[in-house]
Amino acid sequence: MKTEKEPAKASAKPKVAFFDFACCEGCQLQVANIGEALLDVLGAIDVVEFREVMSEKYDKAYDIAIIEGSITDFHAEERLKAIRARSKVLIAYGACAAIGGVNGMKNSFDLDEIRASVYGSDYHLFDSTPTRPVHQVVKVDYTVNGCPIYPPELIEVLKHALRGLPYTVPDKPVCSECKLNENVCMYERGVSCLGPWTKAGCNSWCVNNGNICYGCRGEVKNPAKAAASDIISKYNLKPELIKGKFDMYNKCKEGDNNGDHK
Ligand code: SF4
Ligand code: SF4
Ligand code: SF4
Repeated sequence: MKTEKEPAKASAKPKVAFFDFACCEGCQLQVANIGEALLDVLGAIDVVEFREVMSEKYDKAYDIAIIEGSITDFHAEERLKAIRARSKVLIAYGACAAIGGVNGMKNSFDLDEIRASVYGSDYHLFDSTPTRPVHQVVKVDYTVNGCPIYPPELIEVLKHALRGLPYTVPDKPVCSECKLNENVCMYERGVSCLGPWTKAGCNSWCVNNGNICYGCRGEVKNPAKAAASDIISKYNLKPELIKGKFDMYNKCKEGDNNGDHK
C-alpha cells in the first residue's frame, strides 16, 4: 500500500475507486476482509481511492467506480452524478446501492415526518429525499446484490468488468441453492423464510448458517407463484407477514435493476 509521502506513479493498470453513500459501510468491510482472493484482482488494478482502507486519493478519473450505499439527499445525488461523469464503468454493490436496502424503509413514511423525527424542529435545514438505489439516479453497468455482498460474487463481477464482459445476476430463487446445500427448510421448523421470492447468488448464505433468508438480494423477476402460494397455505401464513418481512430491504422496488446491463 502506498504511503502519503510516496508520489503517485503512472500506471497502465485500470484505475479503480470505491465510494460510499448512505450505508453502514459493511460492504466495504467485506472487501477489506476478502484477503487472498482479492490479491489476484488487486494485482491487475490500481486502487486510487478507498476511504475504508487508505487516506490517499490518486486520481479524479476512473476506469471503474464501485459505489456502496443508497441516495438519500440532493447532495448525494450531485456527488454521484459527478463520479459517474468521471468513470468509464460503474458498479453498484450491496443492497443499499443495488435496491435501496434497509434505507428504503424511509419511503414508507411521510418525508417531513421522518426528517422531524431525525433532526427535530429544525429539520428543514437538513437536505433529505426519498431513498433511491444508484440505478435510479445514474446508469449502472454492473450490480452486486446482498447485505452484505457475497465476496466471491464481487470478485466475479470485478473480473467481468475488467474484461468488459457481461455479468448476469442470477434470477432464480435462493431455495434453488438452499436445496443443493441440503439444508432443512426453515418452514419445516415453523419459521417463515423469504428464499422463494429472493434472487439467488449468495449460495443460501444465511440459511447455511442457521438463519432465514431476509430477501436482501431483491425479488426474483418471476417468482414461482404457485409454489409460493402452496407454502403460504400449507403453513397457514398471512401474506402480509411475508410482505412485511420483504419490505425491510425492498421498499425501493420501482425500476428494479436486475443487473443485465451489458
Ligand atoms: S448493503 Fe448492508 S452491509 Fe452493505 S452497506 Fe448496506 S446495510 Fe451495510
Ligand atoms: S424457504 Fe428458505 S429454508 Fe426453505 S428451501 Fe427456501 S431458502 Fe431454504
Ligand atoms: S440468504 Fe437471503 S438474506 Fe441471506 S444473503 Fe442470501 S439473499 Fe440475502
